[in-house]
Amino acid sequence: MRKKTFHKRTILPQMLVLVLMLAAVQMQAQDLKHYQRIVKELSSAKYQGRGYAKGGANKAGKYLKKEFEKAGADEVICQPFTLDINTFAGKMKLSADGRKLTPGTDFTLREFSPGVHGSYPLYYVDTLNYDSQTVFDDLKRPEYKDAFVVCDFWFTYKHGADFKRLQSTDDAPNAGLVYTWETPLKFYKAYGEKVSDKPVIWVLSERLKGAKSIKADIDNKFYESYECFNVIAKVAGARHDSCYVFTAHYDHLGNLGKKVYYAGANDNASGTAAIVTLAAHYAQQRPPYDMYFIAFSGEDANLRGSEYFAQHPIVPLEQIKYLFNIDMIGDDNPVLYCETSDEGQRGYDLMEQIVKEKQYFKSLNHGKLAANSDHYPFATRHVPCIFVENQEGTAFPYYHTTQDNWTSAVFDSYEPVFHLVTDFIEKY
Ligand SMILES: [Zn+2]
Repeated sequence: MRKKTFHKRTILPQMLVLVLMLAAVQMQAQDLKHYQRIVKELSSAKYQGRGYAKGGANKAGKYLKKEFEKAGADEVICQPFTLDINTFAGKMKLSADGRKLTPGTDFTLREFSPGVHGSYPLYYVDTLNYDSQTVFDDLKRPEYKDAFVVCDFWFTYKHGADFKRLQSTDDAPNAGLVYTWETPLKFYKAYGEKVSDKPVIWVLSERLKGAKSIKADIDNKFYESYECFNVIAKVAGARHDSCYVFTAHYDHLGNLGKKVYYAGANDNASGTAAIVTLAAHYAQQRPPYDMYFIAFSGEDANLRGSEYFAQHPIVPLEQIKYLFNIDMIGDDNPVLYCETSDEGQRGYDLMEQIVKEKQYFKSLNHGKLAANSDHYPFATRHVPCIFVENQEGTAFPYYHTTQDNWTSAVFDSYEPVFHLVTDFIEKY
C-alpha cells in the first residue's frame, strides 16, 4: 500500500507536467494551423490577388474583419479611404511573330501602362554601340513607324533620361516600349496612380527571341477615387494611455488579365495572418497596454492605406509605444531583415538581445529605412517602429511574381517572429 501511494505521488506530478507540455505543444501547433489557414484563404482564387478591378482587396478586408472578431478582438472597425489606380483585369493577349506569350510568366505590364491593341514592328536598341541620337533618327524611318522600342531593362535603367523621352508622345514617334528581363519576371507596383502616354511591356528575353513584331490585345482600366479600407482591431489592455500597434498590408497586385492573378501568399498574406494570430493571443492573455492590429490596404499602390492612417490616426501617434510592421514572413531565411525609425532603435537593440538569448533567428540584419512598406509613414512621423521581413529565403525569388502563391510559401519564420514579438512586449 505504502509503495503504491509513493508511486502515485511521484507519477502524478510527472503526468501533470506531461499533460501540460502536450497542451502547450498543441496550442503552438494550433497557432501555426490558424496562421496557415488564413494565408491559404487570402491567397486563394476567391480574392484574385487582393487587387481592385475584381474587388478582391475589399473582399479580403471583409474576411479579415470577421477573422479579427473571431479572434476575440474587443472592437473591429473599417477605415475607408480612396485611391486612384490603374488595373489589368480585361483582355491580356500578346504574341511575338505569331508565338503566343503567357501573361505573368512570359510578359507583364508596367503598373502605369495603358492598354495596347494592334500589331507593331519591333526596333531593337543597339546596346553595344549605343548612341541615343541614332535611336531617335532610326525611329523616324518608315519601317519603324509605330514601332515598339525593345531594350534590356537594366540598360534602360542606366539611361533613364533617354528612355523617359521614348515614353513621351511629344519627343519620339514610337508607339510603345518593350523592356526585356531575365527570368523571373517581376511586377512593379508603386506608380499605378496614373497612366503613362505609351504602353510599357516587360517581356522575358528568351521568349521574345528577337521577334520582328508583336501583336497585342491588352486592356487596362483606370479607377479614380476607388474606395477601399484599412481594418483596425483593438484588444484592450490594462492601461489605455499608451498602446502597441501591429501592422501588415493585406492588399496585393491583383490581376493580370481575366485569368492570371498575383496570389501574394508571402507578400503579404503571411504578415496579415501573423497579426490576426497575435490578436487572438492577446485577446486570451490581456496585454499591459491597449493593442491595435491594423491590416492596411493600398500598400502595393504606394503605401496609401498606411499614409492615410498616419494622417488620420484613430489613436494619437504620440501614444504608440512601439509599432511592428510585418511584411513577408512566409519564408525560411534564418536571418531576419529589419528597418527602424530612429526612435525604434532602442527596441531593435532589445530584439537583438532576445534573439541572442533565445536563438529565434541566427541574427537580425538592420537595413536602411526606406519607403518600401507601411512602417515608413510612421517612421517619418517619429513613431518608434520596426519593419520585419524575411528576405532572401526559399520563397523570396518569387517576390512580385505569379509564383508567390500557397504552394511556394514556407512557414519556418512564423513561430520565431511570433515569439520574438511576444517576448519583446514582455520586456520593452
Ligand atoms: Zn508587401
